[in-house]
Amino acid sequence: SFTSMSSSKSYNNSFALPDHISPDDPVRACFVVLVRNSELNGLLSSMRQLEDTFNRKFNYPYVFLNDDEFSPEFKDLTSAATSAKVEYGKVDAQMWGYPSFINQTMAAETRTQMAAIGLPYGGSESYRHMCRFQSGFFFRHPLLDQYDYYWRVEPDVDFTCQIDYDVFKYMRNNGKKYGFTIAFREFMGTVPTLWDTIRNFKKDHPEVADKLPAKGDSLIDFVTDDNGQTYNGCHFWTNFEVGAFTSAIASLDLWRSNDYLKFFGYLDRSGGFFYERWGDAPVHSIAAALMLRKNEFHFFNDIGYRHTAYQHCPVEPEHRSRCACNPDDNFGKLTQITSDYMKLSVMLPSAFTELLHHV
Ligand code: GDP
Ligand code: MN
Repeated sequence: SFTSMSSSKSYNNSFALPDHISPDDPVRACFVVLVRNSELNGLLSSMRQLEDTFNRKFNYPYVFLNDDEFSPEFKDLTSAATSAKVEYGKVDAQMWGYPSFINQTMAAETRTQMAAIGLPYGGSESYRHMCRFQSGFFFRHPLLDQYDYYWRVEPDVDFTCQIDYDVFKYMRNNGKKYGFTIAFREFMGTVPTLWDTIRNFKKDHPEVADKLPAKGDSLIDFVTDDNGQTYNGCHFWTNFEVGAFTSAIASLDLWRSNDYLKFFGYLDRSGGFFYERWGDAPVHSIAAALMLRKNEFHFFNDIGYRHTAYQHCPVEPEHRSRCACNPDDNFGKLTQITSDYMKLSVMLPSAFTELLHHV
């Protein structure tokens, strides 16, 4: 699909800020961290690295969210780890719980089946609430109302390169709405009906489908190899995600738009967050691939980032002097091991650079 996309010359990479915004204007942006009290130490590790590599220079606020109350210790230690503003929010039952239309007995049965075949988090109930929250609700949490851009952060990740520019201004000033560091293929057993549900959504909602960007202008070929018949499993890893909640400065809006809310509501009512195990990563990625234009994506090649066993570590000489990661461990080099081990195939970050910058 890279070849076919590379041959499309139809889109224009230029972006001009509207007159009422100047490049130096502040950006209303924050880190958003969904986390449990039990993950405090891992989160402090992530925060120290994020502060060291980026935020001591830019001082963006943090919003911590939890389905439980944060402990006093959690609040004390996380607020001591940054000089930026910190806010702590609880996620209510409407955003984290079963909607009335879900048959919980059936949900429990499918969890047992998915656990039995060894799908990651196949048996976990809380993981499903988490994925549904991240798919459809985080951007509607009241503590985030005051922000236009976010950077999602998780416990126990590493940030390994100094970042000397304001990532949020980069996003805003270049009309970017979705930034990533790692892409992956999904375990298809977690999303067996997701793609067909999305196809049905497009049929049932022509008012949304009709205004999506044309195929050549979108990233739709990132998520399908057969011209939209099936999902190929490709998604951006959402444990790192820099995005725009909404934006008055470019063509289409994502998370807070009526179109995305309709899209999410349709997926939610189909039950797949509970009867299957839809991840927020495939949901976000497919939505973004449908709704955004190619030039609104950004691959943050210069941000060294590790989550679990996978990391993005820039290999180019011009980045190496700012990084502490081993370029031999860059995700690209792990392709073979990964696909053998997990029976997955993986897309290389370098391929994304090509995809996103040489169309
Ligand atoms: P993975 O990255 O897909 O393996 O999933 P994680 O276990 O890292 O969860 C993703 C994010 O959601 C992390 O930031 C977790 O701290 C958070 N998270 C997951 N489950 C829960 C939960 O039940 N409650 C809260 N408050 N946070 C959760
Ligand atoms: Mn994680």
